[in-house]
Amino acid sequence: MEDFHAYRNIKLCSKDCLCLFVCPTGATNNETGQIDFSKCIGCGACAVSCPSRAITMIPNTMPDPQVKSKKVIDKLFEIANNKISEIEILKHILENSKNEDVRLIEALIYSNKIVIEDLMREADFMLPQGKKSLLLLSRLSKNEETKDIASKLLNSFK
Ligand code: SF4
Ligand code: SF4
Repeated sequence: MEDFHAYRNIKLCSKDCLCLFVCPTGATNNETGQIDFSKCIGCGACAVSCPSRAITMIPNTMPDPQVKSKKVIDKLFEIANNKISEIEILKHILENSKNEDVRLIEALIYSNKIVIEDLMREADFMLPQGKKSLLLLSRLSKNEETKDIASKLLNSFK
């Protein structure tokens, strides 16, 4: 298994230390609780011995992401655009809603935002709702080529 290395999920680890006894290189004996990748030779002994299934063998290199055609990316953007329009409509409805409808509409807006994030990720664009992403979108909204989609995305995440 030299193409793999061990990863410990510290939340599952019950600290019975079996992996420390079986590891031939001392890679599991680490003060941080993380397995030392530089010492791990990928033998898998720790993963087999762990009673809590806290250790997973993961590949040293991940395969390249699947390349998507422009047609697929365009379609993902089209669906995302539709979702953005839905959010705009829902926001308008929200402004005129009675108290009992508010939570449902807010939930729909939230779920649409999650779907947009997933669509953007599928289209090979990461769109976390952090400050830096919003800053990037705000810059893109001033660019002639990207202003339409960037402005829409920016508004939908406000
Ligand atoms: S064998 Fe598993 S449960 Fe025990 S210390 Fe190692 S990782 Fe934690
Ligand atoms: S895979 Fe082998 S070398 Fe790597 S941490 Fe586990 S027991 Fe040690």
